[in-house]
Amino acid sequence: MQTPLLHPHHFDCAIIGGGLAGLTLSIQLQKKGLNIVLFEKEEYPFHKVCGEYIAMESWNYLEECGLKLREMNLPQITKLHVSAPNGNMIKHSLNPGGFGISRYTLDNELAKIAKQIGVELLDDTKVIDVKFENELFHINTQNNVYTSKIVLGAYGKRSNLDIKLKRNFAQSSGKNTNYVGVKYHVKANLPDDLIELHNFSDGYCGISKVDGESYCLCYLTTADNLKKSGNDIKEMEQRILMKNPFLEKYFTEFPILFDAPLAISQINFSSKKSIENHIIMLGDAAGLITPLCGNEMSMALHASKILSELLPSYFENKLSRRELEKLYSKLWNKQFSTRLKTGRIIQSFFGNQWLTNIFISVLKPFPFLIKKIVELTHGKPF
Ligand SMILES: Cc1cc2nc3c(=O)[nH]c(=O)nc-3n(C[C@H](O)[C@H](O)[C@H](O)COP(=O)(O)OP(=O)(O)OC[C@H]3O[C@@H](n4cnc5c(N)ncnc54)[C@H](O)[C@@H]3O)c2cc1C
Repeated sequence: MQTPLLHPHHFDCAIIGGGLAGLTLSIQLQKKGLNIVLFEKEEYPFHKVCGEYIAMESWNYLEECGLKLREMNLPQITKLHVSAPNGNMIKHSLNPGGFGISRYTLDNELAKIAKQIGVELLDDTKVIDVKFENELFHINTQNNVYTSKIVLGAYGKRSNLDIKLKRNFAQSSGKNTNYVGVKYHVKANLPDDLIELHNFSDGYCGISKVDGESYCLCYLTTADNLKKSGNDIKEMEQRILMKNPFLEKYFTEFPILFDAPLAISQINFSSKKSIENHIIMLGDAAGLITPLCGNEMSMALHASKILSELLPSYFENKLSRRELEKLYSKLWNKQFSTRLKTGRIIQSFFGNQWLTNIFISVLKPFPFLIKKIVELTHGKPF
Protein backbone atom coordinates (compact mmCIF):
# COMPACT_ATOMS: atom_id res chain seq x y z
CA MET A 1 0.00 0.00 0.00
CA GLN A 2 2.98 2.29 0.61
CA THR A 3 3.06 5.18 -1.89
CA PRO A 4 6.44 6.27 -3.28
CA LEU A 5 7.78 9.47 -1.71
CA LEU A 6 7.31 12.44 -4.06
CA HIS A 7 10.19 14.21 -2.31
CA PRO A 8 11.98 13.62 1.00
CA HIS A 9 9.50 15.73 2.93
CA HIS A 10 6.34 14.13 1.54
CA PHE A 11 4.37 11.58 3.60
CA ASP A 12 1.06 9.74 3.41
CA CYS A 13 0.06 10.98 6.86
CA ALA A 14 1.46 13.72 9.08
CA ILE A 15 0.59 13.47 12.76
CA ILE A 16 0.88 16.63 14.84
CA GLY A 17 1.47 15.83 18.51
CA GLY A 18 3.30 12.89 20.07
CA GLY A 19 1.13 12.13 23.09
CA LEU A 20 -0.81 8.89 23.44
CA ALA A 21 -3.17 9.49 20.53
CA GLY A 22 -0.47 10.51 18.06
CA LEU A 23 2.17 7.95 19.04
CA THR A 24 -0.13 4.92 19.00
CA LEU A 25 -1.69 5.96 15.69
CA SER A 26 1.73 6.47 14.13
CA ILE A 27 2.72 2.94 15.18
CA GLN A 28 -0.45 1.32 13.85
CA LEU A 29 -0.36 3.16 10.50
CA GLN A 30 3.34 2.55 9.95
CA LYS A 31 2.74 -1.15 10.63
CA LYS A 32 0.06 -1.07 7.91
CA GLY A 33 2.62 0.14 5.37
CA LEU A 34 1.94 3.89 5.26
CA ASN A 35 4.69 6.56 5.36
CA ILE A 36 4.21 8.46 8.58
CA VAL A 37 5.80 11.60 9.97
CA LEU A 38 5.07 12.65 13.56
CA PHE A 39 5.91 16.08 14.98
CA GLU A 40 6.30 16.61 18.74
CA LYS A 41 7.28 20.02 20.06
CA GLU A 42 8.96 18.68 23.23
CA GLU A 43 11.97 16.39 23.46
CA TYR A 44 11.40 12.85 24.85
CA PRO A 45 11.38 11.87 27.66
CA PHE A 46 9.37 14.56 29.42
CA HIS A 47 6.76 14.89 32.17
CA LYS A 48 3.18 15.90 31.43
CA VAL A 49 0.32 17.11 33.64
CA CYS A 50 -1.89 14.02 33.97
CA GLY A 51 -3.32 11.89 36.79
CA GLU A 52 -1.60 8.85 35.20
CA TYR A 53 -4.44 6.42 35.94
CA ILE A 54 -5.37 4.52 32.76
CA ALA A 55 -8.64 2.63 32.63
CA MET A 56 -8.21 -1.09 31.96
CA GLU A 57 -10.11 -0.82 28.67
CA SER A 58 -6.87 0.46 27.07
CA TRP A 59 -4.59 -2.38 28.14
CA ASN A 60 -5.01 -4.55 25.00
CA TYR A 61 -4.55 -1.70 22.55
CA LEU A 62 -1.33 -0.53 24.23
CA GLU A 63 0.01 -4.08 24.07
CA GLU A 64 -1.04 -4.28 20.40
CA CYS A 65 1.12 -1.19 19.86
CA GLY A 66 4.10 -3.13 21.19
CA LEU A 67 4.21 -2.06 24.86
CA LYS A 68 5.05 -4.97 27.12
CA LEU A 69 2.79 -3.84 29.97
CA ARG A 70 2.78 -7.30 31.55
CA GLU A 71 6.53 -7.07 32.14
CA MET A 72 6.46 -3.57 33.61
CA ASN A 73 5.21 -4.51 37.08
CA LEU A 74 2.61 -1.72 37.12
CA PRO A 75 0.22 -1.08 40.00
CA GLN A 76 -3.27 -2.44 39.27
CA ILE A 77 -5.90 -0.09 40.68
CA THR A 78 -9.21 -1.59 41.79
CA LYS A 79 -10.39 0.69 44.59
CA LEU A 80 -11.75 4.25 44.48
CA HIS A 81 -12.13 6.60 47.43
CA VAL A 82 -13.80 9.98 46.84
CA SER A 83 -13.91 12.65 49.54
CA ALA A 84 -16.05 15.79 49.73
CA PRO A 85 -14.41 19.10 50.72
CA ASN A 86 -15.60 18.47 54.30
CA GLY A 87 -13.76 15.11 54.40
CA ASN A 88 -16.86 12.89 54.10
CA MET A 89 -15.73 9.87 52.05
CA ILE A 90 -17.26 7.32 49.67
CA LYS A 91 -15.43 4.02 49.11
CA HIS A 92 -16.15 1.98 46.01
CA SER A 93 -14.58 -0.88 44.10
CA LEU A 94 -13.53 -0.41 40.47
CA ASN A 95 -14.20 -3.31 38.18
CA PRO A 96 -12.14 -3.79 36.06
CA GLY A 97 -10.40 -0.60 37.25
CA GLY A 98 -7.13 0.59 35.79
CA PHE A 99 -3.36 0.79 36.15
CA GLY A 100 -0.81 3.45 36.96
CA ILE A 101 2.09 4.51 34.73
CA SER A 102 3.84 7.87 34.46
CA ARG A 103 3.54 9.74 31.18
CA TYR A 104 7.32 10.17 31.31
CA THR A 105 7.70 6.40 30.92
CA LEU A 106 4.65 5.68 28.78
CA ASP A 107 5.14 8.31 26.06
CA ASN A 108 8.87 7.64 25.93
CA GLU A 109 8.39 3.87 25.48
CA LEU A 110 5.85 4.44 22.70
CA ALA A 111 8.17 6.94 21.01
CA LYS A 112 10.97 4.33 21.05
CA ILE A 113 8.67 1.75 19.41
CA ALA A 114 7.54 4.26 16.77
CA LYS A 115 11.15 5.08 15.85
CA GLN A 116 12.17 1.40 15.76
CA ILE A 117 9.47 0.51 13.23
CA GLY A 118 10.32 3.40 10.92
CA VAL A 119 8.04 6.32 11.82
CA GLU A 120 9.81 9.59 10.96
CA LEU A 121 9.52 10.90 14.51
CA LEU A 122 10.65 14.50 14.83
CA ASP A 123 10.68 15.62 18.44
CA ASP A 124 11.70 19.11 19.49
CA THR A 125 9.80 20.15 16.35
CA LYS A 126 6.83 22.46 16.66
CA VAL A 127 4.29 22.76 13.86
CA ILE A 128 3.51 26.41 13.31
CA ASP A 129 0.99 26.28 10.49
CA VAL A 130 -0.96 23.86 8.29
CA LYS A 131 -2.54 24.73 4.92
CA PHE A 132 -4.74 22.55 2.72
CA GLU A 133 -4.55 23.25 -1.04
CA ASN A 134 -5.34 21.09 -4.07
CA GLU A 135 -5.87 17.95 -1.99
CA LEU A 136 -2.46 18.31 -0.33
CA PHE A 137 -1.48 19.57 3.13
CA HIS A 138 1.51 21.86 3.63
CA ILE A 139 2.86 21.64 7.17
CA ASN A 140 5.27 24.31 8.38
CA THR A 141 7.70 23.73 11.23
CA GLN A 142 10.42 26.13 12.41
CA ASN A 143 12.89 24.67 9.88
CA ASN A 144 11.04 22.94 7.05
CA VAL A 145 7.88 22.53 5.01
CA TYR A 146 6.42 19.03 4.74
CA THR A 147 3.56 17.79 2.56
CA SER A 148 1.09 14.98 3.16
CA LYS A 149 -2.25 13.68 1.93
CA ILE A 150 -3.73 13.43 5.41
CA VAL A 151 -3.07 15.47 8.56
CA LEU A 152 -4.06 14.20 11.98
CA GLY A 153 -4.39 16.72 14.81
CA ALA A 154 -3.26 14.91 17.97
CA TYR A 155 -1.82 18.00 19.61
CA GLY A 156 -3.72 17.84 22.88
CA LYS A 157 -5.97 20.15 24.83
CA ARG A 158 -4.51 23.46 23.76
CA SER A 159 -2.10 24.46 21.03
CA ASN A 160 -0.96 27.39 18.94
CA LEU A 161 -2.74 25.63 16.06
CA ASP A 162 -6.21 26.10 17.58
CA ILE A 163 -5.78 29.85 17.19
CA LYS A 164 -4.35 29.49 13.65
CA LEU A 165 -7.34 27.35 12.69
CA LYS A 166 -9.71 29.85 14.38
CA ARG A 167 -11.42 27.00 16.22
CA ASN A 168 -14.63 28.15 17.92
CA PHE A 169 -13.82 26.75 21.35
CA ALA A 170 -10.51 28.66 21.47
CA GLN A 171 -12.46 31.91 21.29
CA SER A 172 -15.14 30.92 23.83
CA SER A 173 -15.27 32.27 27.37
CA GLY A 174 -17.36 31.61 30.50
CA LYS A 175 -17.95 28.47 32.59
CA ASN A 176 -15.79 25.43 31.76
CA THR A 177 -13.29 27.47 29.73
CA ASN A 178 -10.37 28.27 32.03
CA TYR A 179 -8.97 25.57 34.28
CA VAL A 180 -5.50 24.96 35.65
CA GLY A 181 -3.83 21.54 36.11
CA VAL A 182 -0.93 20.86 38.51
CA LYS A 183 1.07 17.66 39.01
CA TYR A 184 3.73 16.32 41.36
CA HIS A 185 5.29 12.94 41.94
CA VAL A 186 5.45 12.21 45.66
CA LYS A 187 6.41 9.45 48.06
CA ALA A 188 3.32 8.17 49.87
CA ASN A 189 2.29 5.42 52.23
CA LEU A 190 -0.95 4.51 50.47
CA PRO A 191 -2.04 1.12 49.08
CA ASP A 192 -0.89 0.31 45.50
CA ASP A 193 -4.38 -0.66 44.35
CA LEU A 194 -6.16 2.55 45.35
CA ILE A 195 -7.02 5.78 43.56
CA GLU A 196 -8.26 8.62 45.73
CA LEU A 197 -10.08 11.74 44.52
CA HIS A 198 -10.34 14.58 47.00
CA ASN A 199 -12.64 17.50 46.29
CA PHE A 200 -12.03 21.05 47.38
CA SER A 201 -13.70 24.34 46.54
CA ASP A 202 -13.75 24.54 42.71
CA GLY A 203 -11.52 21.56 42.06
CA TYR A 204 -10.35 18.06 42.88
CA CYS A 205 -7.07 16.29 43.42
CA GLY A 206 -6.25 12.65 42.59
CA ILE A 207 -3.53 10.45 44.00
CA SER A 208 -2.51 6.95 42.87
CA LYS A 209 0.63 4.90 42.38
CA VAL A 210 2.59 4.85 39.12
CA ASP A 211 5.67 2.84 37.98
CA GLY A 212 8.69 2.85 40.29
CA GLU A 213 8.12 4.01 43.84
CA SER A 214 6.29 7.26 43.02
CA TYR A 215 2.69 8.33 43.46
CA CYS A 216 1.12 10.85 41.12
CA LEU A 217 -0.57 13.75 42.94
CA CYS A 218 -2.44 15.82 40.40
CA TYR A 219 -5.24 18.37 40.60
CA LEU A 220 -7.52 20.45 38.45
CA THR A 221 -8.99 23.76 39.54
CA THR A 222 -10.27 27.04 38.13
CA ALA A 223 -7.97 29.84 37.01
CA ASP A 224 -10.03 31.99 39.40
CA ASN A 225 -8.82 29.99 42.40
CA LEU A 226 -5.24 30.66 41.35
CA LYS A 227 -5.95 34.34 40.76
CA LYS A 228 -7.54 34.65 44.22
CA SER A 229 -4.27 33.28 45.63
CA GLY A 230 -2.13 35.92 43.89
CA ASN A 231 -1.22 33.44 41.10
CA ASP A 232 0.85 31.56 43.67
CA ILE A 233 0.38 27.76 43.50
CA LYS A 234 1.70 27.09 47.03
CA GLU A 235 -0.54 29.80 48.45
CA MET A 236 -3.56 28.30 46.67
CA GLU A 237 -2.74 24.83 48.00
CA GLN A 238 -2.56 26.16 51.55
CA ARG A 239 -5.60 28.41 51.41
CA ILE A 240 -7.96 26.27 49.33
CA LEU A 241 -6.90 22.64 48.77
CA MET A 242 -5.73 21.99 52.33
CA LYS A 243 -9.19 22.76 53.73
CA ASN A 244 -9.94 19.16 52.76
CA PRO A 245 -8.47 17.17 55.70
CA PHE A 246 -6.97 14.48 53.40
CA LEU A 247 -5.19 17.04 51.26
CA GLU A 248 -3.96 18.87 54.35
CA LYS A 249 -2.28 15.65 55.48
CA TYR A 250 -0.86 14.75 52.05
CA PHE A 251 0.49 18.20 51.18
CA THR A 252 2.08 18.44 54.63
CA GLU A 253 3.47 14.91 55.04
CA PHE A 254 4.29 13.42 51.63
CA PRO A 255 7.76 14.31 50.30
CA ILE A 256 7.56 15.89 46.83
CA LEU A 257 9.93 14.44 44.23
CA PHE A 258 9.76 17.33 41.73
CA ASP A 259 11.81 20.52 42.15
CA ALA A 260 8.78 22.60 41.18
CA PRO A 261 5.11 21.94 40.41
CA LEU A 262 4.36 21.02 36.80
CA ALA A 263 1.45 23.22 35.75
CA ILE A 264 -0.70 23.97 32.71
CA SER A 265 -3.35 26.64 32.29
CA GLN A 266 -6.18 27.58 29.93
CA ILE A 267 -7.75 24.12 29.96
CA ASN A 268 -11.08 24.49 28.18
CA PHE A 269 -13.89 21.89 28.40
CA SER A 270 -16.10 23.44 25.67
CA SER A 271 -17.09 21.08 22.89
CA LYS A 272 -14.90 20.83 19.77
CA LYS A 273 -15.26 19.57 16.20
CA SER A 274 -13.57 16.30 15.23
CA ILE A 275 -12.72 17.63 11.73
CA GLU A 276 -11.37 21.13 11.19
CA ASN A 277 -10.38 22.34 7.70
CA HIS A 278 -9.92 18.66 6.67
CA ILE A 279 -7.56 18.03 9.61
CA ILE A 280 -8.78 14.92 11.44
CA MET A 281 -8.67 15.51 15.20
CA LEU A 282 -8.20 12.85 17.87
CA GLY A 283 -7.51 12.73 21.59
CA ASP A 284 -7.87 15.97 23.52
CA ALA A 285 -7.70 17.97 20.27
CA ALA A 286 -11.09 16.45 19.36
CA GLY A 287 -12.79 16.81 22.75
CA LEU A 288 -12.06 16.89 26.44
CA ILE A 289 -13.71 15.06 29.28
CA THR A 290 -13.17 16.00 32.91
CA PRO A 291 -10.23 14.10 34.48
CA LEU A 292 -12.67 13.34 37.30
CA CYS A 293 -13.97 10.63 34.97
CA GLY A 294 -10.45 9.16 34.89
CA ASN A 295 -10.77 8.03 31.32
CA GLU A 296 -9.49 10.60 28.87
CA MET A 297 -6.38 8.67 27.92
CA SER A 298 -8.58 5.73 26.93
CA MET A 299 -10.67 8.01 24.73
CA ALA A 300 -7.51 9.25 23.01
CA LEU A 301 -6.35 5.67 22.46
CA HIS A 302 -9.73 4.48 21.27
CA ALA A 303 -9.92 7.27 18.65
CA SER A 304 -6.45 6.21 17.50
CA LYS A 305 -7.71 2.65 17.05
CA ILE A 306 -10.76 3.84 15.06
CA LEU A 307 -8.51 5.84 12.71
CA SER A 308 -5.97 3.04 12.34
CA GLU A 309 -8.81 0.94 10.91
CA LEU A 310 -10.37 3.67 8.72
CA LEU A 311 -7.37 5.38 7.13
CA PRO A 312 -6.05 2.37 5.13
CA SER A 313 -9.40 2.32 3.23
CA TYR A 314 -8.76 5.89 2.11
CA PHE A 315 -5.29 4.98 0.80
CA GLU A 316 -6.72 1.92 -0.97
CA ASN A 317 -9.24 4.26 -2.68
CA LYS A 318 -12.16 2.54 -0.99
CA LEU A 319 -13.18 5.81 0.73
CA SER A 320 -13.05 9.37 -0.62
CA ARG A 321 -11.84 12.15 1.67
CA ARG A 322 -15.44 13.26 2.13
CA GLU A 323 -16.59 9.76 3.06
CA LEU A 324 -13.65 9.30 5.41
CA GLU A 325 -14.41 12.53 7.27
CA LYS A 326 -18.12 11.77 7.49
CA LEU A 327 -17.59 8.24 8.73
CA TYR A 328 -15.01 9.25 11.33
CA SER A 329 -17.24 12.04 12.73
CA LYS A 330 -20.11 9.57 12.98
CA LEU A 331 -18.03 6.91 14.71
CA TRP A 332 -16.44 9.46 17.03
CA ASN A 333 -19.83 10.80 18.15
CA LYS A 334 -21.26 7.33 18.59
CA GLN A 335 -18.35 6.24 20.73
CA PHE A 336 -17.75 9.32 22.87
CA SER A 337 -20.66 11.78 22.92
CA THR A 338 -22.46 10.21 25.93
CA ARG A 339 -19.23 10.10 27.94
CA LEU A 340 -18.51 13.71 27.08
CA LYS A 341 -21.98 14.84 28.11
CA THR A 342 -21.80 12.91 31.39
CA GLY A 343 -18.35 14.34 32.01
CA ARG A 344 -19.55 17.92 31.48
CA ILE A 345 -22.44 17.43 33.91
CA ILE A 346 -20.15 15.96 36.56
CA GLN A 347 -17.61 18.72 35.95
CA SER A 348 -20.16 21.52 36.51
CA PHE A 349 -21.58 19.78 39.57
CA PHE A 350 -18.26 19.29 41.29
CA GLY A 351 -17.35 22.94 40.96
CA ASN A 352 -19.47 23.89 43.93
CA GLN A 353 -18.20 23.08 47.41
CA TRP A 354 -21.63 22.98 49.01
CA LEU A 355 -23.16 20.81 46.24
CA THR A 356 -20.24 18.38 46.35
CA ASN A 357 -20.65 17.91 50.10
CA ILE A 358 -24.36 17.17 49.58
CA PHE A 359 -23.71 14.99 46.51
CA ILE A 360 -21.26 12.77 48.39
CA SER A 361 -23.49 12.39 51.45
CA VAL A 362 -26.53 11.57 49.28
CA LEU A 363 -24.63 9.04 47.16
CA LYS A 364 -22.89 7.34 50.07
CA PRO A 365 -25.74 4.97 51.03
CA PHE A 366 -26.41 4.02 47.37
CA PRO A 367 -23.45 2.07 45.92
CA PHE A 368 -25.48 1.10 42.81
CA LEU A 369 -25.73 4.80 41.88
CA ILE A 370 -21.98 5.23 42.25
CA LYS A 371 -21.48 2.14 40.09
CA LYS A 372 -23.78 3.63 37.42
CA ILE A 373 -21.84 6.91 37.35
CA VAL A 374 -18.52 5.06 37.05
CA GLU A 375 -19.96 2.93 34.21
CA LEU A 376 -21.24 5.98 32.30
CA THR A 377 -17.77 7.49 32.26
CA HIS A 378 -15.94 4.31 31.22
CA GLY A 379 -16.00 2.29 28.01
CA LYS A 380 -15.46 -1.31 26.97
CA PRO A 381 -12.09 -2.79 25.89
CA PHE A 382 -11.31 -2.06 22.22
C1 LIG B 1 -5.13 17.60 35.58
C2 LIG B 1 -5.36 16.48 34.61
C3 LIG B 1 -5.41 15.16 35.06
C4 LIG B 1 -5.65 14.11 34.18
N1 LIG B 1 -5.70 12.83 34.65
C5 LIG B 1 -6.00 11.81 33.83
C6 LIG B 1 -6.07 10.46 34.31
O1 LIG B 1 -5.77 10.16 35.47
N2 LIG B 1 -6.46 9.49 33.43
C7 LIG B 1 -6.75 9.75 32.13
O2 LIG B 1 -7.13 8.80 31.40
N3 LIG B 1 -6.63 11.01 31.64
C8 LIG B 1 -6.27 12.04 32.45
N4 LIG B 1 -6.12 13.31 31.95
C9 LIG B 1 -6.28 13.52 30.52
C10 LIG B 1 -5.09 13.03 29.69
O3 LIG B 1 -3.90 13.61 30.16
C11 LIG B 1 -5.31 13.41 28.23
O4 LIG B 1 -6.60 13.06 27.83
C12 LIG B 1 -4.35 12.71 27.31
O5 LIG B 1 -3.05 13.13 27.58
C13 LIG B 1 -4.71 13.02 25.85
O6 LIG B 1 -3.74 12.52 25.00
P1 LIG B 1 -3.44 13.27 23.63
O7 LIG B 1 -2.52 12.38 22.88
O8 LIG B 1 -4.69 13.71 22.98
O9 LIG B 1 -2.72 14.62 24.07
P2 LIG B 1 -1.35 14.86 24.82
O10 LIG B 1 -0.91 13.69 25.58
O11 LIG B 1 -1.52 16.16 25.53
O12 LIG B 1 -0.31 15.05 23.62
C14 LIG B 1 -0.34 16.14 22.75
C15 LIG B 1 1.09 16.45 22.34
O13 LIG B 1 1.08 17.41 21.28
C16 LIG B 1 2.22 18.24 21.43
N5 LIG B 1 1.97 19.47 20.66
C17 LIG B 1 1.07 20.46 20.93
N6 LIG B 1 1.12 21.42 19.98
C18 LIG B 1 2.06 21.00 19.09
C19 LIG B 1 2.56 21.57 17.89
N7 LIG B 1 2.11 22.73 17.41
N8 LIG B 1 3.54 20.91 17.22
C20 LIG B 1 4.03 19.72 17.70
N9 LIG B 1 3.60 19.16 18.84
C21 LIG B 1 2.60 19.78 19.51
C22 LIG B 1 2.34 18.42 22.94
O14 LIG B 1 3.65 18.78 23.34
C23 LIG B 1 1.92 17.05 23.46
O15 LIG B 1 3.02 16.20 23.75
C24 LIG B 1 -5.85 14.38 32.81
C25 LIG B 1 -5.78 15.70 32.34
C26 LIG B 1 -5.54 16.74 33.23
C27 LIG B 1 -5.48 18.14 32.71
